[in-house]
Amino acid sequence: MRSLCRSVLHPYDVSAERGAPLVLVLPAHFPAIWALAPGGGAAVRTADRSDHPDLGSSATRCTSSNLIALMAALSAHDKPLIVMDSVFVPAMQKLVDERFEVHVSAELDPPSDRADEVFGLLIHGHPTVNSAIISKFPKLKIVSNFGVGCDHIVTSDATSLGVFVANTPGAMSEATADVALALLLAGARNIVPGDKLARSPGYAKVDPNWFGVEVHGSRIGIVGLGRIGQAIARRALAFDMKVQYHNRSRVSEDTEKRLQAEYKSSLEELLRDSDFVVLAVPCNPATEGMIGAEQLKCLGPDTILVNIGRGKLVDHAALTASIEAGSFYCYATDVTEPEPLPREHPLLRSDRVIISPHVGSATLKTRSRMARMALDNLGAVISGNKPPHSLNGDEVESTTPAPAPTPAPAGPGPGPAAEGGGGTPT
Ligand code: NAP
Repeated sequence: MRSLCRSVLHPYDVSAERGAPLVLVLPAHFPAIWALAPGGGAAVRTADRSDHPDLGSSATRCTSSNLIALMAALSAHDKPLIVMDSVFVPAMQKLVDERFEVHVSAELDPPSDRADEVFGLLIHGHPTVNSAIISKFPKLKIVSNFGVGCDHIVTSDATSLGVFVANTPGAMSEATADVALALLLAGARNIVPGDKLARSPGYAKVDPNWFGVEVHGSRIGIVGLGRIGQAIARRALAFDMKVQYHNRSRVSEDTEKRLQAEYKSSLEELLRDSDFVVLAVPCNPATEGMIGAEQLKCLGPDTILVNIGRGKLVDHAALTASIEAGSFYCYATDVTEPEPLPREHPLLRSDRVIISPHVGSATLKTRSRMARMALDNLGAVISGNKPPHSLNGDEVESTTPAPAPTPAPAGPGPGPAAEGGGGTPT
């Protein structure tokens, strides 16, 4: 019976250890199933560690016949329900559909009459997720973000509602660093205006006095020497660039040595002393607008400012004024605020601005890796565990009710199981 349970309920079952009573730990999204359990049901608990109200506080035992009915019903509904704001490409969506029943809603609305079956949101784009959204789903357990930056998710709202927020750190660091270098090189060597020129109907020859900025042997200042920043630094070393960085705290001595990186405790000093500045910090209240009018004044006339973090890191009004005044060479960015910029925005008319449409992680390999991590975060929660990559895991766990007592070995016939015995992982 134990192995039958495992095979039917996989990956949700958490049966008791050998010799201990059989306990089925069921995902919380099967309200219809519970009708089968009472009156003889197995020792049944939901994966969120709370006993189902219909079962009372202690678990009930199960006869083999209604256990089999329970398992049959489970296998017929064995995909937990999640909501996505938009679908992935088919090759990636297949990974999701194999494990979950998916309802797609750009507004993050639940399917009608099934709001309380939704246990997770899988956030593909960057919709705002706050208490108003989370409250649409009474039994929501997790907001799984497809990406590392979670500035569109109000984590404090999720925490106060006992909902995990999880992300995919590291999965896209290398791909995003590639885009940072692409922007840096394009900005330095006039690739975008050069392309326009070479295609223009009147093009005859390039002005021999039209110069770009030398990359090799120059100084790069990385604001945020984290996962992506370090991947950028490794690439910069291949261009014989001198690596400098600014963080709130220094990275380890080993990392500094490996990257030949010099720490600058002052952001302004880093801006003044760099030929290329790359922004790779997360967006939060401390970093929003960290590059304003005063910081832009620190950039030299040949400096290129690259942004692969978030648009909000740079004050766009000050940026526009600085670009229009020609006070630094080029702003090359993967991110804007808002995204996209309004079509009449002055930054769109400037040859000193290069914009890629937030494609830092946009390769199939990287996005597939991110999808797997986002699914693993969902899968962990449905099994009653903390997501492997969460922003508020400890806080949410500490507010989750303690596991219900484990029932004692089942005696013959139906009846409430006694409390105590070995723990059941939930
Ligand atoms: P990470 O590993 O956490 O690195 C962030 C770095 O920023 C750390 O070195 C951190 O060092 C520094 N930092 C944080 N707050 C700071 C502050 N107030 N002042 C100075 N430095 C600060 O993050 P990551 O994985 O590299 O990702 C960084 C960001 O890139 C994400 O949050 C996301 O917004 C963006 N991103 C964009 C794309 C894209 O497609 N364009 C793709 C992926 C990620 P300290 O803690 O010591 O300050």
